[in-house]
Amino acid sequence: MSRENRQLHIFFLPFMAHGHMIPFMDLAMLFAAKGVKTTIITTPLNAPHISKVTERAKNLGFEINILITKFPSVEAGLPEGCESFDKASSPDMQFKFFIATTMLKEPLAHLLQVHHPDCLVADMFFPWTTNVAAAFGIPRIVFHGTCVFSLSATEHIRLYEPHKKVSYDSEPFVLPNFPGEIKLTRSQLPDFVRQELGFTKFYNEGKETESKCFGVIVNSFYELESTYADHYTKALGRRAWHVGPISLCTRDTIDKTERGKIASIDENECLTWLNSKKPNSVVYICFGSVANFDSSQLLEIATGLEASGQQFIWVVRKENKNQDERDDWLPDGFEKRMEGKGLIIRGWAPQMLILDNEAIGGFVTHCGWNSILEAVCAGVPMVTWPVAAEQFYNEKLLTQVLRIGIGVGANKWARIVGDFVKREAIEKAVRDIIVGDKAEDMRNRAKALADKARKAVEKGGSSDSDSNALIEELSSRAMKIHK
Ligand code: UDP
Repeated sequence: MSRENRQLHIFFLPFMAHGHMIPFMDLAMLFAAKGVKTTIITTPLNAPHISKVTERAKNLGFEINILITKFPSVEAGLPEGCESFDKASSPDMQFKFFIATTMLKEPLAHLLQVHHPDCLVADMFFPWTTNVAAAFGIPRIVFHGTCVFSLSATEHIRLYEPHKKVSYDSEPFVLPNFPGEIKLTRSQLPDFVRQELGFTKFYNEGKETESKCFGVIVNSFYELESTYADHYTKALGRRAWHVGPISLCTRDTIDKTERGKIASIDENECLTWLNSKKPNSVVYICFGSVANFDSSQLLEIATGLEASGQQFIWVVRKENKNQDERDDWLPDGFEKRMEGKGLIIRGWAPQMLILDNEAIGGFVTHCGWNSILEAVCAGVPMVTWPVAAEQFYNEKLLTQVLRIGIGVGANKWARIVGDFVKREAIEKAVRDIIVGDKAEDMRNRAKALADKARKAVEKGGSSDSDSNALIEELSSRAMKIHK
C-alpha cells in the first residue's frame, strides 16, 4: 500500500460497562464509516454483546474488528465471570473491578506490539493507557462518554473545592468561575469527591491525564452546549473534538433492538403497543444499566405511576427466575389494572427504538449521558432522577441550561441504589412531563435540539467537521512517522 493510501488504524478500549461499551461501539462505527480501520478490545463475556453489530457492519464493508483479552476478575478478588460493571453489586466489588482493569496493562501492550495501530482511544477510567500508548509512540485520546458541561463542572469542583466551604450537606453553593449560576449541594457530589476513598486517587489520576494526553473526544455536539464547549477549551485548556450524538450512527431497527444487549421484549410487540397510542401520550421510565432500586422504591414508582393516570413503559432491572415468583415490588393487581395502559419490561429494553417512537412524550431518566442524548435526538423532554456518577451535573444541564427537564427531587448521590423519592413526587413529575403547563414548551425546545443534533452529524455539520479534522490530524501524524 502506498504511503498516501495508508489506512488509519485506531484501537478502542472501553470500560467494561454497557453505558461505556455502547458509545464506544458507536464511536468505532462512526470512524469505520469514514474509512478508518477500527479495532475494539474487549473481554470474552463482553464480546457477544457487540459481535452481532460488528458482523453486520463488516458485511456492509466496514473495517471493524474485535480483539479479546482475558479479564482478570479472579486475580482482583472478584468471582469468576464478573466482567461487567453491573455485576459488581457492592462498593467493595466495584473497587476491585477497577483494580482488575489496571491489570490489563500488559495485555494491552502486547496487542499494541502485535497490531501497531496509529492511535489508542481509551476510556476515561484507564489513565494508565496514556503511558502504555506513549511507549509505542502513539497518541492516546480520552473518551468520556459524557458532556463538556459535566466534564467542566467536575474539574471546577476539583480545582476550587466549593463543597469544603459549606457548613452542611444540603447547603447550596454556586460553582465558582463557571458559566451560568449553577447551584449544587455537597450531597449531590460523588462519595469519592466528598471524602478520600480508595477510588479517589484513581479518579484524580484520570482527571489529570485528561490534560496530558492528545485530547478528548466528546459525545456531544457544539450547538447543544456551546458556552461550555468554549469554556472547556479556552478556560480549561483542553483539546476536544465534539463528534456526537454518535448514537445517530445506529440507524437499523435490528441494531437498535440489539444495542448493548438483546432486548427482553419482542420488538414487534413493543412497537405494536406504542403504535396504538397517540403522539406524546406515553412516559418511558428507565434507569440505565447500573442503577438498581430496591423493592420499596419500585413499589413507590408503581403507585406514583398509577396515580398519575398516564400511560407508561417501565423498565425494571429484575427478571423473575420462574413464572410463579411473586413481584413484591408491585401493588396487588397492578398489572391487571394497567392492562393496555402500562407495559413493564423486565430486563433490557430496546431503548432507542422506544424513544424514537412518536407516542413517547416524556422520559424519566437517571441522567446517564447516553440516555439523555438518545432522548435529545428523539426530541423527548425528561424527568430527571439522578443517582450516581456525574448524573447530578447532567441534571443541571437539562433543567437549568437547556430547560428540557424537570427534577423529581432526588438530592443524594448514592452508589447503585439511589435516593428515595416519594410516590407524590413521582406522580406529579410524570403528569407534568406529559400534560403539565410547561410540557409543550419543553417538548418544543427538545424537538428543536433534535433537529440541531441531526444537522450536526450530517455532511458539513459541526460534529462531522470535528471528526474529519481529527481523522486528518491523526492520518498526517501517522504518515510522517511511516515516511
Ligand atoms: N439501555 C438500553 N436498554 C435498557 C437500559 C439501557 O438500551 O434497558 C441503553 C441506553 O439506551 C443507553 C445505555 O444503555 O445507551 C445506558 O447508558 P447511560 O449512560 O444512559 O447509563 P448507565 O447505564 O451508564 O448508567
